[in-house]
Amino acid sequence: MKNDIREKLIREIFMRCRVSGEYDFKLSNFDTAWAGPEEIKHLGEEKLKKRAKKILKKNLEALSEAQEVLYASNKYAMLLIFQAMDAAGKDGTIKHVMSGVNPQGCQVFSFKKPSSEELDHNFLWRYTRRMPEFGRIGIFNRSYYEEVLVVKVNPEFLQSNLSHQKIDKAFWAGRYDDINNLEKHLTTNNTLILKFYLNVSKEEQKNRFLERLNDPEKHWKFSESDLVERSKWNKYQEAFEDAIGHTATPWAPWFIIPADNKWIMRALVSMIVTETITSLKLTTPEVSSEKKKLLEEARRAMETE
Ligand code: ATP
Ligand code: MG
Repeated sequence: MKNDIREKLIREIFMRCRVSGEYDFKLSNFDTAWAGPEEIKHLGEEKLKKRAKKILKKNLEALSEAQEVLYASNKYAMLLIFQAMDAAGKDGTIKHVMSGVNPQGCQVFSFKKPSSEELDHNFLWRYTRRMPEFGRIGIFNRSYYEEVLVVKVNPEFLQSNLSHQKIDKAFWAGRYDDINNLEKHLTTNNTLILKFYLNVSKEEQKNRFLERLNDPEKHWKFSESDLVERSKWNKYQEAFEDAIGHTATPWAPWFIIPADNKWIMRALVSMIVTETITSLKLTTPEVSSEKKKLLEEARRAMETE
């Protein structure tokens, strides 16, 4: 892709998907099936998929290089958060977008139902222990946002030692403040945060569940709670809308990614991650003059060995 077309595409993607808190956030303003700008949209499904795969591949090469420099400069960490309804494609997106990255430079954590040890701590504890080291990309497959999503929709999941508190709007507002403060603290201490909401439609979720149910190879992916949570679709959408609206900040923006087309979703995420990391313009560390001398001596010693 030519550089000017790429730049235009990136501008459009950021304009469409990025939410950083300037306006009243409504999920209904975001198209779950957006398939690219005018120039691309008309291509038809097969060609579109091919184009998206090509964009993904190109970004993976750039991401791999950028990640090497991130690692060598050891100055910043990057935290990528993935949240979504079930079957929106978190796992596949993480797998594809990170497939070109040196495994030593990234750390993936999937957060499931908390253990009793985790429930015996403040709600942010289990996540703050898993923050990426400088030089690394940390990926959270689900995150502390579950504490204002699944826990809000199912208040019985709240830690029992909080039962004396009134669980009202102010309670959740307090949690949003805690999250915003944590993210502020992380970013002022060189952890860059990108948060992705994979925005799948209810219809497409049904298709994907049916795919899992109809294919014995995919049966393991279907969990008995999937239909129960699906029946609470509207409550989840409200919880997402409220959470994203209250935690989209200039320092830790949300990206609302159309998820009905898996390849478009992966290409978009790869583009946003690659663009953000390369825009840091990191360089490999400068070598001191003493070290240069040492290297020269080592080279000579090797050559005369
Ligand atoms: P997949 O998309 O492949 O199904 P998954 O991320 O849904 O993967 P599962 O093992 O199916 O993984 O589900 C993890 C479960 O853990 C989810 O139902 C989620 O809501 C739940 N969970 C995550 N965090 C919390 C939390 N803090 N409190 C209660 N439940 C949680
Ligand atoms: Mg699941």
